[in-house]
Amino acid sequence: MPLKELLLSIKELPKEISKLIKSLECTSTRCINIGLKYKKSLPEKIKDIHWIYIPEKKYPFYRVGIYSNVSKKLVPQNCYSLYVEMSNIKNCDNIIPLLKDIGIINVDDEILSLNVVDMKYAYVIFNKERQETLNKINTFLNKKNIYCIGRYGTWEYSFIEKNITDAKKLALTLNHE
Ligand SMILES: Cc1cc2nc3c(=O)[nH]c(=O)nc-3n(C[C@H](O)[C@H](O)[C@H](O)COP(=O)(O)OP(=O)(O)OC[C@H]3O[C@@H](n4cnc5c(N)ncnc54)[C@H](O)[C@@H]3O)c2cc1C
Repeated sequence: MPLKELLLSIKELPKEISKLIKSLECTSTRCINIGLKYKKSLPEKIKDIHWIYIPEKKYPFYRVGIYSNVSKKLVPQNCYSLYVEMSNIKNCDNIIPLLKDIGIINVDDEILSLNVVDMKYAYVIFNKERQETLNKINTFLNKKNIYCIGRYGTWEYSFIEKNITDAKKLALTLNHE
């Protein structure tokens, strides 16, 4: 569970620890998953591509990934699937026309499914207080035999592979104690 949630769930948290919670800042993200059926072929722009960054301000999304280019087995024949990530969730009404505008979706393709996933914890903000805050929190938690791992557990910027190897390392350490 995210470190912030863990601390909030502890009853009688010492004041010197609870006052640190506000320093744990992060951004939230909306992820829109879209399943489509193409009329002729996969859009030229996304052929053989796993993900694309879109930095232009006029687009409310910053990254689009193509699940079905990772494995064709993820979709039925003549279909493709995308995720669209955006950090400003107020601005997501017209994403389909914008995706068509940049050629990530063909104009005449059929949308078969669309679902929205809001992630409260997305990117940890590395503010000035972060490291000192984490040192104090972890000293407190470790004394209670609580060891944190994971991107949100350790309040860091990391990726799936690191999360798996960190979990393995911690399991080995605890088994040898
Ligand atoms: C928008 C976005 C894009 C990303 N893209 C990539 C990428 O392309 N490649 C990459 O490697 N990484 C990517 N990441 C990072 C990756 O998702 C994380 O590093 C990874 O998921 C962290 O794994 P974890 O096990 O630490 O935490 P999580 O994946 O968050 O797993 C924690 C699990 O614990 C559950 N949980 C929480 N609280 C409780 C509770 N109280 N009781 C029981 N269960 C609970 C949650 O529901 C969740 O299933 C991305 C992250 C975001 C937000």
